[in-house]
Amino acid sequence: MKTGWKITAAVIAACTLLLGSPESVLGSPGVKNRYYYEQRGDMIWEVHTNQKVIALTFDDGPDPSETDLILDVLHKYNAKCTFFAIGKRIAAYPEVARRVISEGHELANHTYNHVYFKTPISPQQIQDELERTENEIVKISGKHSSLFRPPGGMYDETLVDVSNSMGLKPILWSWHQDTRDWNRPGVYSISSRVIRGAHSGDIVLFHDHVHGQSQTRAALKIILPELEKQGFRFVTVSELIRLSDTQQAKK
Ligand SMILES: [Zn+2]
Repeated sequence: MKTGWKITAAVIAACTLLLGSPESVLGSPGVKNRYYYEQRGDMIWEVHTNQKVIALTFDDGPDPSETDLILDVLHKYNAKCTFFAIGKRIAAYPEVARRVISEGHELANHTYNHVYFKTPISPQQIQDELERTENEIVKISGKHSSLFRPPGGMYDETLVDVSNSMGLKPILWSWHQDTRDWNRPGVYSISSRVIRGAHSGDIVLFHDHVHGQSQTRAALKIILPELEKQGFRFVTVSELIRLSDTQQAKK
């Protein structure tokens, strides 16, 4: 049931995005869609794994109050997550970014200025945005990130190629796990979407910095105990990739 629903949802979402036929989702010649980039191994939306693991991700921080409060909840449930941070916010709130690292989470690249890359994307601009953010990440953690999430999920082949050539894998999210928490749809809306759709290998999209009163932390207080009860383990995106069937097959 779950798999069938997931495929249907994916097909509908892809058709909406691409305004194309269902066949285009499966990769018609010359169509550069999700299937094309997944086949190349150059971009990730979610992974296939036989382990009961899920990756919660938080974009747009660090935030001097909200990130700390979210970290408190994650700590309670021993959840390790990935924070796609904005470079200039890391520079502004280095102590919050340091706490992300010290509690075992992953700090990853979400550009320096939160640029919505519009096509045609300038390779120089991408490189500059990613490098400046990497400099801030290195100052905090002592090492480079290996993951990058383009703001708004906007990408093209130039972005995918430049990012991969810099050792940064572009990461989006499971189509059925976009909580839209930035729009504050209500705590129940956020938590029920994640819980109902939870599937091994999912990548869930949250934000640890939003305009106005965030509902994310309250939703996490419902999501984490429920999924823990169902046997899920919360891992970083890098760990999720390591646990994917394709990675295991390569060993
Ligand atoms: Zn963002």
